[in-house]
Amino acid sequence: MDERSDLADLADGSIGGSGFTGTGRPSRTFPRGRVCGHDGCETRLSIYNDSSYCSSHQPQVAPRMRGRKIA
Ligand SMILES: [Zn+2]
Repeated sequence: MDERSDLADLADGSIGGSGFTGTGRPSRTFPRGRVCGHDGCETRLSIYNDSSYCSSHQPQVAPRMRGRKIA
């Protein structure tokens, strides 16, 4: 009962500093409005895309596929 008020007090802002609303970055997202780095390409990148290129222009990083063929 009294413990509840204690928890509420902690959750009131003591944890996490100045809160995540506004300019804070809560998790792995990236600035909005970024565009593909490919010359002439204006494809918008997702805020969840950590690449500098759109899906069409991402460098082709071949996954490990030794001994396997891409079907
Ligand atoms: Zn592109």
